[in-house]
Amino acid sequence: MRVAVISDIHGNLPALEAVLAAVAPFDALWHLGDTVGYGPQPNEVVDRLTREGAVGVRGNHDSAATGLIDADWFNEDARVAIEWTARVLTPASRAALLALPERRSEGEFTMVHGSPRDPTWEYIASTAVALVGLQDLTTPYGLFGHTHDPRVFRARGGTVETLGPTDHAELQLDERVTLLNPGSVGQPRDGDPRASALVLDLDARRATWHRVAYDIRAVQARMREVGLPARLVDRLERGL
Ligand code: ZN
Repeated sequence: MRVAVISDIHGNLPALEAVLAAVAPFDALWHLGDTVGYGPQPNEVVDRLTREGAVGVRGNHDSAATGLIDADWFNEDARVAIEWTARVLTPASRAALLALPERRSEGEFTMVHGSPRDPTWEYIASTAVALVGLQDLTTPYGLFGHTHDPRVFRARGGTVETLGPTDHAELQLDERVTLLNPGSVGQPRDGDPRASALVLDLDARRATWHRVAYDIRAVQARMREVGLPARLVDRLERGL
């Protein structure tokens, strides 16, 4: 069974379309939240995931855009984008986002946006935080997003090993408890502007990362058209 794992799409439909085409065919699509926020096509992205039969979890931007948490917790640009998103979301998109759980388990994998102990807010961006996350997992493997950085944290004795997978990087899953981040589809922040995704081959127990080019200019033009903040427009082409 081949599972495509994606995260942090952030309303970027061209990036999502490019990723789905690049990793097809797949038997299941799992997403790790922040489906909306930042990007100009939140409804189209929610629709696309629904049509693909995707299962996933809710991220902090999804919670803010649907009114579950206060947008004032976010920085200025993010807040402006969240408020715009909240205004344009259709009732069907809102309902779909509100129906998402904060945590979900599929077989040996737990899905969260942030971390197992704080799925909404906590960033697993250091080995210290990752160690707690690995200990909190109730399944052998965990899938997380939120940092927009393709990453692996794996338990090794009492310490944590970390890997930063690049395009086509492969990881053999074994008896070690492991946290995996597919990177961001719609707003990568590791210096590579290409959309990022992860494919799990459950039979071979192998994870493979993919980077996929898409039409960044088209997304930027649409962002300008709807009046999203200039800094959010600019960062897309830098991948930062
Ligand atoms: Zn995000």
